[in-house]
Amino acid sequence: MKRFACADAGVVCKAQVTGATEEEVLAKAVEHARTAHGVDLTQSTTLANFARGLIRDDAETQRP
Ligand SMILES: [Zn+2]
Repeated sequence: MKRFACADAGVVCKAQVTGATEEEVLAKAVEHARTAHGVDLTQSTTLANFARGLIRDDAETQRP
């Protein structure tokens, strides 16, 4: 399980997306950024790579 937290990108936003693979999480993050923030990550390779770099393994973050 992979996880992307919008807040990790420096955005004041509590949204998180999870998925089985990095690609799945990135796709959901792209969709979220577009609908919630009006930012199209696919327009910029830099932004897309930045978002990809923020994806973490869920096992590390889901400890109680
Ligand atoms: Zn967000």
